[in-house]
This record gives sequence, C-alpha cells and structure tokens, in this order.
Amino acid sequence: MNKYTCHCSNTLFFENTQCVACNSEVGWCPACQRLTGLLLSPNGTLQCGFTECQASLVKCHNYEVEHVCNRCIVANSNEVSSSSLCDYCRYNDTIPDLSVEGNRERWYRLETAKRRLLYSLDSLGLPYGKTEDGIQPALSFDFKADTNFPGNQWKPMGDHEQVYTGHDHGKITINLQETEDVEREKLRVSFGEAHRTIVGHFRHEIGHYYWEMLIENKEEEAFIRVFGDYQTPTYSEALERYYQDGPPNNWQENFISAYATMHPWEDFAETFAKYLAMVSVLDTARHNFSEVGIDPTQAEFMTMIKSYQNLGTMLNEMNRAMGLIDLMPEVLVPPVIEKLKFIHQILSAARSGASLQTSNHI
Ligand SMILES: [Zn+2]
Ligand SMILES: [Zn+2]
Ligand SMILES: [Zn+2]
Ligand SMILES: [Zn+2]
Repeated sequence: MNKYTCHCSNTLFFENTQCVACNSEVGWCPACQRLTGLLLSPNGTLQCGFTECQASLVKCHNYEVEHVCNRCIVANSNEVSSSSLCDYCRYNDTIPDLSVEGNRERWYRLETAKRRLLYSLDSLGLPYGKTEDGIQPALSFDFKADTNFPGNQWKPMGDHEQVYTGHDHGKITINLQETEDVEREKLRVSFGEAHRTIVGHFRHEIGHYYWEMLIENKEEEAFIRVFGDYQTPTYSEALERYYQDGPPNNWQENFISAYATMHPWEDFAETFAKYLAMVSVLDTARHNFSEVGIDPTQAEFMTMIKSYQNLGTMLNEMNRAMGLIDLMPEVLVPPVIEKLKFIHQILSAARSGASLQTSNHI
C-alpha cells in the first residue's frame, strides 16, 4: 500500500477521511489516482488538493451520506449527482440492513477490506468490471447476515436464510458474521487456520472470480498439471470428504493451507489469496522501507519470493516481540511455490493481454 501526502505535506493513509494536521477532509481522487486533501473551490465545489491535478470532485454517496467510503468521483458530467457511487462502490449489489444496530460499522469494515482488495487488483493492472464494461464474469458484492446468528441480533432477511461466504459467477458474498472479531477468531481456531481476516476472504473469493475469467475454457490443461483434476472427484464429493475426514496429515508438504486440500478450486483460491497478500506486503514494504522494496508488477517471480521470505523472517520476529501471531506463518515449500508461480504467470499474461503460452512475464 502506498502512502500519500496532503497539500499541507502531512502523510495520509489509505483509510483516512481527514488530515490530522490541517483538518481538511481527505478523499481518493480518481483523476490523479491518489489520496488527497480536499479543498473548497471559490464556487463551493470540492477540488483535489494535489497542485498538479486540482480536479473538481464529488464525494461518493457512500462517503458523503453513509460514511463507509473515502473515495470521490470526478465532477465532469451532468450524470454525477449526490447519489452517485464511486468506482469501487458501484459493485455493491446488496448492502447490510442499516436498521440493525451495528451494521453500519460492520459494513465499514467490509468496505475498508474491499478497497484494499480492489487497490491490489488495480496496482497489478488486472481486469475486472461489470457487464456494461464488457467484462465477464461481471463482478458484484453481496454483504448479508444470517437470520439465525447467535443472540438473535440480526434482523431476518428471509425465512431461515443462511448466508454462505463464497463466489458464484462473479458475485462475491460475505457473511456479516466475518466482521465480528470474536466470531471470526472462534472460526479461525476451530478450523485450525493460521489467519482469518476480512481482506483474506476477499482475496480468496476473487481467486474463484479469476479462475472463471482466466482459466475456465482457456488454461485448463495447464491448471490441471499444477493443481490437479477438478472434475474427479467432483466438488461436492470433495467437500463431503473434507468435512468427514479433514485434511491429510502431511498437507503442509504440498498445500498453502489445510482447506486448500479440499479441491483444486479451493487450492487455487487459497494460493491466489496468498499471492495477493504477498503482493500487498511487498508493495507496502516498497513504499515504506526503500531498502527492502521491490515493485511486484515488475519483479522476477523468484525475486518476489525471496524478498517476501526475507521480510517474513523480520516481521514474524516483530510480531513475536508484541505477542502477536506470526505475520507470515506459512512455509513456502516447492510445490506451493510452483502454484504461486502459475498464478504469477496467469496474472502477468492477463495484465499484458497475452495468453499464457505467449507471455514472457515469467
Ligand atoms: Zn493536511
Ligand atoms: Zn487529483
Ligand atoms: Zn464509494
Ligand atoms: Zn473458496
């Protein structure tokens, strides 16, 4: 993640809505692609505070009214109004029921994680979009709650509706329960997961999205060589077997997580999530410690892996110093590195518009 600078020269961070030094409101300017202080122009409209940009801006409806976003829209057409949504909020199909106490805060947590996901996709130059953008599958998000959440604190959405966090033809659904620290930590421990985070869910589900966009009917042979046959056993057979028998004892020798052993699609999504996490860590290092930074969109794959592992050694010790769980708990064994490399190649090809066979970005 990059750091940004206010017109008063104070540092701004990606989640900020206000500069703590000059009290200016802060927003993402899509014209210059940065977080800036927002200035009031003489005619009362908002203006990007970056001197070389000064674009006229309107706050996203979810920023101005709902307080869950911090992005703006360029005010260059009559179509932009106070109900307009920004480039990231336009993908929301279902938002939480805001008449339920606490749901605005839960939604805010989801939006914060979603913005980090989309920032990563943008920084990698990956395609995503809606049908009208000419992109298939069309991306959308549903943020919903179960009707039977413990304590009956959720307002019913339908008769006994159970919400499954998952991906289905471009629609990513996240159960609101995942925004509750206590519930999420309970699930993490009961599933034996190293980490369970909101942004991690987004990264996993977008992996399924890219499988459908970039691999299905395109790179399936190459996929099967690395991840295995996804048709035998079928997904539902594999699911049943996993919940009955659990992962194989020695799963660490071939997989990034226990859940990745369930089926090649889950292996891909888990590895994809790890790839995006790695990119995000390297990008953050690049913008904060120039001596260890590399650009994940330009670097050779093995340079990325080595840099990530070196950072891991240091950052794990930092976390241990604070009594926190390791920042990078996983061991990247050769089979997992092969899978990450496949994802790196697929994404590099998608970025350049080439097919995997003709891509040089290895
Ligand atoms: Zn400022
Ligand atoms: Zn700007
Ligand atoms: Zn927005
Ligand atoms: Zn999955």
